[in-house]
Amino acid sequence: MKFGGTSVGDVAAFERVFRIVSEQIDKRPVVVTSAMTKVTDALLSAFDLARKNEPEQGFESLQPHFERHVEVAEHYLGEDAKQKFYKELERAKSDLSEVLERVSRRSLPVQLLKDVVVAYGELLSSRLLTEVLRSKGINARHADARRLIMTDDEHGAANPVWDETEKIIQLELNPVLKNDEVPVMGGFIAASRSGETTTLGRGGSDYSAALIAAALRAGELQIWTDVTGVMTCDPRIAPAAYTIPVLSYEEAAELAYFGAKVLHPKTIQPAVDFSIPVRVCNSWKPEEIGTMVLAESGEAPSKIKSIASKKGITILRITSARMLGSYGFMSALFQVFERHRAVIDVISTSEVSLALTLDNVNSLDQIVNDLKRLGAVEVEHGNAVVCVVGEGLRTTSGLAAKLFSTISDVNIPLISHGASSVNVTFVVKEEVVGEVIKRLHDAFFTENIAKDAQT
Ligand code: ADP
Ligand code: ASP
Ligand code: MG
Repeated sequence: MKFGGTSVGDVAAFERVFRIVSEQIDKRPVVVTSAMTKVTDALLSAFDLARKNEPEQGFESLQPHFERHVEVAEHYLGEDAKQKFYKELERAKSDLSEVLERVSRRSLPVQLLKDVVVAYGELLSSRLLTEVLRSKGINARHADARRLIMTDDEHGAANPVWDETEKIIQLELNPVLKNDEVPVMGGFIAASRSGETTTLGRGGSDYSAALIAAALRAGELQIWTDVTGVMTCDPRIAPAAYTIPVLSYEEAAELAYFGAKVLHPKTIQPAVDFSIPVRVCNSWKPEEIGTMVLAESGEAPSKIKSIASKKGITILRITSARMLGSYGFMSALFQVFERHRAVIDVISTSEVSLALTLDNVNSLDQIVNDLKRLGAVEVEHGNAVVCVVGEGLRTTSGLAAKLFSTISDVNIPLISHGASSVNVTFVVKEEVVGEVIKRLHDAFFTENIAKDAQT
């Protein structure tokens, strides 16, 4: 059972978590928690201040967040538990103040220190949640995620080393579960082979929970968040969005990858590997069923299931007559991206040109320089990808026509009908993406609300 930041945001939220866990205590759950909401952002800002040579200000900016932990502790914990937690909190504070100081002195590689700083969000929330659950009668036991999930040393977006991680999780957690205890651990954080703290990328607690579920061959992976399941689109963009009862792994993976923040993109794979059903549910409304993600989902009456989007996308266009009838060109081109460790999202090719999108422009200048050896390169910033997903796209003709005619006045520089055939992905300018999603949502879903809800 994974609880996101808003599900452990304040005093009342901890009560909801307690209820949800205690109702399913017979299923022998493992609890994975994110940092309290806004804490990860606050830690990252403190880190940035420290880098700008203002470590004290960075540390001070965290005080209100420490205070939020204290409020929860004061509300739920008895004297002993409170003292135990405050000792942890004091240690965290003094470590953080020292690490921020080191950040300003740049004494270790900066990415490594960043992970050390940001990990305190989950370290504290998981300690606090353990004590709260214990104080309310659940036999909870804290488990340190850095001892359970082993990764490479790609700080900020580390990759788990599966075989070892699987073994350690089984070895550490199975005896705890057998003993009728409930392990409680922080998501998002892990450690490299050499024992340095690493993190799995923003929103990575979902992924931590999926790894745990896979290693223990859990009956179900539950992602508890602040909306009822995966919806037809981000409810913040189109308030008419509604919950999708069932999604396939493939559909969920495409949606997560192309911006549906409700699931971290890497969450699905471990579940797929061991056929573990994933349920996405609302910790504010636990009685609502939410979304089940399963191997197969079937079609919805609306044919498409959901629309996701991701901003901050850059398009690169490479044009070269050398592409014409030659081999080896693509390989040379992709090597450039491999060399700069840049991830490509969407690709579309013609005989003499190729367009692709990147959502991370860290090494853009070097990439463009290298690509210029292969052909003419154009760069276009400020785009968004829109991804329309549904098993119905495999089988129903005319959907693409309906889709593009709904937004026929919008310029679309790039289209890709995904190789998975459950998605159509295209690019629009960032300024219009909200409007595009609203219009598509109206066209595909509004008239099907009643029918979809029944399936
Ligand atoms: P948590 O802190 O629980 O991990 P997140 O903020 O990471 O929660 O994810 C939940 C948010 O994802 C929702 O509040 C919603 O705004 C956003 N979201 C984006 N796309 C979707 C979607 N298709 N369905 C549901 N929520 C979505
Ligand atoms: N706390 C981390 C973040 O905000 C991880 C997570 O919430 O899943 O990105
Ligand atoms: Mg999340």
